Amino acid sequence: MITKQQISRNTSEKLFEEAKQYFPGGVNSPVRAFKSVDGAPLFIKKGKGHQIWDEDGNYFTDFCCSWGPLILGHAHQGVLDKVTAALQNGSSFGTPTVLENELGKLILDRNPFIDKIRFVSSGTEAVMSALRLARGITGRKKVVKFEGCYHGHVDSMLVKAGSGLATLGTSSSAGVPEEYANETLVLPLNDVEALHECFKEYAEEIACVIIEPIPANNGLLLQDKSFLQELRQVCTDNCTLLIFDEVISGFRVGFNGAAGLYNIDPDIITYGKILGGGLPVGAYGAKNGFMSRVAPDGPVYQAGTLSGNPVAMAAGIAQLSECAKEGFYEDQEARTKEFASKINAHAAARGYDFEMVHIGSIFWLSFAGKKRITKADQIDPDMSMFKHLFASLLERGVYIGPSGYEVGFVSAAHSREVLASAAEAFCESLDEIYS
Ligand SMILES: *Cc1c(COP(=O)(O)O)cnc(C)c1O
Repeated sequence: MITKQQISRNTSEKLFEEAKQYFPGGVNSPVRAFKSVDGAPLFIKKGKGHQIWDEDGNYFTDFCCSWGPLILGHAHQGVLDKVTAALQNGSSFGTPTVLENELGKLILDRNPFIDKIRFVSSGTEAVMSALRLARGITGRKKVVKFEGCYHGHVDSMLVKAGSGLATLGTSSSAGVPEEYANETLVLPLNDVEALHECFKEYAEEIACVIIEPIPANNGLLLQDKSFLQELRQVCTDNCTLLIFDEVISGFRVGFNGAAGLYNIDPDIITYGKILGGGLPVGAYGAKNGFMSRVAPDGPVYQAGTLSGNPVAMAAGIAQLSECAKEGFYEDQEARTKEFASKINAHAAARGYDFEMVHIGSIFWLSFAGKKRITKADQIDPDMSMFKHLFASLLERGVYIGPSGYEVGFVSAAHSREVLASAAEAFCESLDEIYS
């Protein structure tokens, strides 16, 4: 039995009230506001390894891991050392530094899919730049995205699907002009027919297709490999560029992300999250022929005051050096699989309509009898069971991202012992919410 703790949130509540005076909704990124679960967001004071401590002194095994970046867990010693050393030399110069070369080499030496990379400061910026590059190369305007894939808060990507196969986008955010949204075509995931229909009509106009090859921002919508292969073929046949948005999957399901896992060669890849070792770094990369179109070599302009920032580069180098070690990803996957299997076996034995869907060290909690699903509209919109599970897990010392649409992450700091105890907490919490 896991000992239940009474979670006091007095300090977090007070801090949240204060934060509301300073920031819209009290936060600097919307999902942090705990809108889909009960209570005030926990203000986290510190993290070490698999654990986080909040301002009230509660502590948790953390499966949010900063929404993905922390594949080594919190405050990893190697990252701390490298970052501290870099910081002592000064935090930013606006000039090239050797650390950029180090991180560039570390990635490119191991990655057959891209020849050159450009560092930026967030996933959103990486996507925005990749789309501009694709339009600059092809001279075309339209981009195709998929319903349920998140690509950051780029104007043209904040578009939902309407009904029909290929729908002209209507924006899901105020402030995005219709003219921008109209250049985005939205398709259902894992649907070859819809893809062909769309290209039949718009082929000449489509600059690029962007996809999360492992869609993990709206449930975990694992695609058929054959769909991704067909997508590659259709893009090639129509001189359209294929962008893999690997901001989550990059360095997560393997050092070469989903491109490596499925062995599919996209034209442009975007990275973020893990790449920065917990500091703000994004990147986009492609073959030489395409990257030569980026300024100052080519006409597609893109720049950044803090791009390639030495402290952030240091964090990336320290983290990715660990990831590049023999067996790192096999071990991540094996521990995650054991963890999920225990929980799924328990749920199956008790007849709960719950499944922990997983790939690599990513997992998602699927309710309502949905096993593996591939499309956004298959997600059960009733998130009440998630909400109960979230609260029940908190009492058992387990923290997951506060939304049922979000995935969880296992880090290298989540040892077998830690995961065994967390699995027990999940099983007991499931018993509680299904009773
Ligand atoms: C997180 C994410 C982004 C946005 O990255 P930010 O660093 O939050 O701007 C873009 N695409 C995918 C696939 C992501 O998971």
